[in-house]
Amino acid sequence: MTTASATPPTPAPAVRATAHGYPRQGPQRELKKAVEGYWKGRVQAAELHDTAARLRREAWLELAAAGLTEVPTGQFSYYDHVLDTSVMLGAVPERHRAAHEADPLDGYFAMARGTQDVAPLEMTKWFDTNYHYLVPELGPGTAFTADPGAQLAQYREAAALGLAARPVLVGPITYLLLAKPAPGVAPGVAPGFEPLTLLDRLLPAYAAVLAELKAAGAEWVQLDEPALVQDRTPAELGAAARAYRELGALTDRPKLLVASYFDRLGEALPVLAAAPVEGLALDFTGRAARNLEDLAAAGGIPGKRLVAGVVDGRNVWVNDLKRSLTTLGTLLGLAGQVDVAPSCSLLHVPLDVAAERDLDPQVARWLAFARQKTAETATLARGLAAGTGVIAAELAANRAALASRAGSALTRDPAVRARAAAVSAADARRALPYAERSLAQRARLGLPPLPTTTIGSFPQTAELRAARADLRAGRIDAAGYEERIAAEIREVIGFQEKTGIDVLVHGEPERNDMVQYFAERLSGYLATQHGWVQSYGTRYVRPPILAGDISRPQPMTVRWTSYAQSLTGLPVKGMLTGPVTMLAWSFVRDDQPLGDTARQVALALRDEVADLEAAGTSVIQVDEPALRETLPLRAADRAAYLEWATESFRLTTAGVRPDTQIHTHMCYAEFGDVLRAIEELDADVISLEAARSHMQVARELAGAGYPREVGPGVYDIHSPRVPSTEEAVALLREGLRAIPAERLWVNPDCGLKTRGWAETRTSLEHLVAAARTVREEL
Ligand code: GLN
Ligand code: ZN
Repeated sequence: MTTASATPPTPAPAVRATAHGYPRQGPQRELKKAVEGYWKGRVQAAELHDTAARLRREAWLELAAAGLTEVPTGQFSYYDHVLDTSVMLGAVPERHRAAHEADPLDGYFAMARGTQDVAPLEMTKWFDTNYHYLVPELGPGTAFTADPGAQLAQYREAAALGLAARPVLVGPITYLLLAKPAPGVAPGVAPGFEPLTLLDRLLPAYAAVLAELKAAGAEWVQLDEPALVQDRTPAELGAAARAYRELGALTDRPKLLVASYFDRLGEALPVLAAAPVEGLALDFTGRAARNLEDLAAAGGIPGKRLVAGVVDGRNVWVNDLKRSLTTLGTLLGLAGQVDVAPSCSLLHVPLDVAAERDLDPQVARWLAFARQKTAETATLARGLAAGTGVIAAELAANRAALASRAGSALTRDPAVRARAAAVSAADARRALPYAERSLAQRARLGLPPLPTTTIGSFPQTAELRAARADLRAGRIDAAGYEERIAAEIREVIGFQEKTGIDVLVHGEPERNDMVQYFAERLSGYLATQHGWVQSYGTRYVRPPILAGDISRPQPMTVRWTSYAQSLTGLPVKGMLTGPVTMLAWSFVRDDQPLGDTARQVALALRDEVADLEAAGTSVIQVDEPALRETLPLRAADRAAYLEWATESFRLTTAGVRPDTQIHTHMCYAEFGDVLRAIEELDADVISLEAARSHMQVARELAGAGYPREVGPGVYDIHSPRVPSTEEAVALLREGLRAIPAERLWVNPDCGLKTRGWAETRTSLEHLVAAARTVREEL
């Protein structure tokens, strides 16, 4: 590989600066308000369209004013861009067709959210981000059509502003690989139906869309293929090659830019490099940085356009401009034209650091949200085109920001570092093996067979939310707020005792969110006021930022757990969020390995576990719902991840006495990829989602020889439906076929915070009745 100096040897004449996408909601979350207003009937369709058009226009003008020379269009969605793609391709599920034909907008929202009678599309995570998309449902009978109306309209809006605009579409391979067989298709009708087999039928629809975009004036169209950064079979790579051969061979088309992001392209790189398309977009940040070597090894893409993602589009740190210029300088020798861009759509980061008035300005300068990243992109493009002299001031400010971050007491706390460095393997191992611990725990807890428990939260009622709002607004003081929390805990404990639950919880009424609550109490974590990021549809979250070395100034949960325990003679389970989940639902440091950050969080949580235990807590649950979703996209990276992930969990929990029982919880039913890792956690009890899959998890764990206690959920908490005692009995009997009675727990699938009290009460009564019935049969 050639090494280049920060100053490119031959300044490229026309370096473009561009982006794959931008936050959609508007500076004041106007789109969220308009869409939700429309759902409630307060906003008319025309007003919604006007708001959206205004937000798009303002964003494009902002991007152009910031120095982007080509703006993306087609990315500003009312709900989700994958759903938009399904609409564009006519892939509307049968059950939604009539509604969609009657009123496209209402039909669109019905697909996204469902109606009283019709189920929505399934929603799932967009790769390993915290954005969720709506899963296309395809079957052997799916006929694709081209309905590029929204894409055309957006392109024309941007073009009418005099901007160079580039429509961005989800590419055909990614679209098919993200799809699932439509319900009812897989079994009898078409066994093992694979959406990718629809490629031949899909390509003409893309061809028609491309032709229309060209006719509207688009010079370039971007096709996003992030699915190609995952491990793909030769058949899938062959399909990608064929798709781009065919699209490339079209005569009536714009220039094609095939975009990838989130990881390296690996074996898909030569496939795309050889395709008859005019450009590629590659991610050169973080774990995708290997793309640079791979591109060099492949001989580059001479004569083609390379959109170089050198600004991390999914994290919040200022770019190292000098390093990016070096990368860009190298890339100049590997492509016909090099343009600068963030690595992926900026949809994954908040809009503007400047809105964060409460952040220490010394720390705020380390951060870059979408606006700052756009400016960095433009700066890099100018530097690449005209030499670093023209961006000297920006480079100096950037150097100072990076130095401030590296040298800050926040990012280097000697006490935290010394402690983390001194961790030994023994610290992450319980003193006794499970078999011996379990005897001690049985003796201490004295639980019946098939013990009943819940996952932690009880309904987060309107009163609780109002109490929090009252506290924030100063309508009540801290003492008044705490009294409301205490009253809620009394109610929750009283209900559980009366119902006959064996291991109680305090109900988590004091927690706004299972990550934010802890982030607010740990040093080294930052919170934002306006750092909203789209999770799905109109749901936005404000992920906290792991900015510095992590420590715990004081206990975080002991007070409420002890209060709850003081109200009852039954064991009350302590409740913590595990280190992997704390990382997964936050923005993470990029200046040290993830495992190092996880270890710091684990040590802080370990202190909390110790304090809970010292306060008399005999059962402590450490939730890790994110263990699986954080799994790296490439199998080759997974062992290293699972190594630090499981170690950090054990470091959190392993310091307890043998007779203190450690629980963990994960809420998904498909966990085949992490089965071994679950074993490695060495928790005494694990609860998992299982109600909908009829205890499939229990069978899988048993099949893998899992030796510990398991609580496969018997109550599906995702719906207000109350399970009958008989249903729960049937599920427990099913569970007993896989897991022996002395190791089977009885619990819901997940926490109850989204449920109402009425259904919660009856459901838990049924759950206890079922446990009693089945105990009789033992
Ligand atoms: N203890 C948490 C609760 O009960 C767990 C939530 C989760 O798994 N997502 O709400
Ligand atoms: Zn859960």
